[in-house]
Amino acid sequence: MTEPRLRIAVQKSGRLADRSGELISGAGLRIIKGANELLYRIENQPIDLLRVRDDDIPTFVADGVAELGIVGYNVLAEHFPDRDLESMIVQRLGFGSCTLKVAVPNDVDYTGPQWLEGKRIATSYPNILGKWLKDHGVTAEIVEMRGAVEVAPRMKIAHAICDLVSTGATLEANGMKATDLVLKSEAVLIKAPHAPAPELAHTYDMLLRRFDGVTASTGAKYVMMNAPRVHLDEIIRMIPGADAPTIMQLAGREDTVAVHAVCQENVFWETLDKLKAAGASAILVLPIEKMMK
Ligand code: ATP
Ligand code: ZN
Repeated sequence: MTEPRLRIAVQKSGRLADRSGELISGAGLRIIKGANELLYRIENQPIDLLRVRDDDIPTFVADGVAELGIVGYNVLAEHFPDRDLESMIVQRLGFGSCTLKVAVPNDVDYTGPQWLEGKRIATSYPNILGKWLKDHGVTAEIVEMRGAVEVAPRMKIAHAICDLVSTGATLEANGMKATDLVLKSEAVLIKAPHAPAPELAHTYDMLLRRFDGVTASTGAKYVMMNAPRVHLDEIIRMIPGADAPTIMQLAGREDTVAVHAVCQENVFWETLDKLKAAGASAILVLPIEKMMK
């Protein structure tokens, strides 16, 4: 009998593929590319990667074909407009951020959702858009398109579009401007509704802990400095996202202490300048490779 293996559904290629791979490697899983493009094996754990189109990931995970999956919140919300998504989501992953927005041709004087009343809107996200229109009391015709949504107004297929926007460059190139925000998205880790097979429970729990650790340590920093006691409270308040820093007495320096803190966010030069101005010295900012909460 073959040993049972956990499956993680990931995007085979595209905008989420690289970062999904980094998350998996960051969790200590060694990926071996197999002859089979659909299934890659993890060498050091009983885990396989199911490499598919992102649109297939919500269904595979909901049906239990894969125990876990990494997919854009936008794709999940479009697939399951009536489900409780929070019960599927294990954690938000902090990458693949994008926004779904309404966009109209530049010459339109867009006055808000009401402008869309009775109009035609092209989108690849008919469910999400339909809900948003309903929430705003607008009745409009939704034209579903699989791709190239941005050309719809020029082709006279639609008056407006609802599409993913990051920089706005694509819209600009097509003579359009973004207006209302419909949905904010980022990649999410999702789980199947049923618990994994008992033999895999240990691997599953370990994996979730490690994914959480990788996400938490991304951008997190370890900050060390010397601080005069008289300004200690002020200095601690300046350290971004620091929770209960460690304070240590310096040998032979009654008036100065060492402060060590884990910052949950990146530390910018501006913060260092302020710390310095408040009397901190010998400030060190170190990257954190791994963290387990
Ligand atoms: P597939 O071949 O897997 O179906 P796709 O073409 O549907 O891929 P991609 O363009 O690779 O999808 O985008 C995957 C996900 O990346 C999107 O669903 C979204 O969550 C996220 N994303 C992040 N930034 C952007 C962006 N600027 N435009 C589109 N998607 C983005
Ligand atoms: Zn897709």
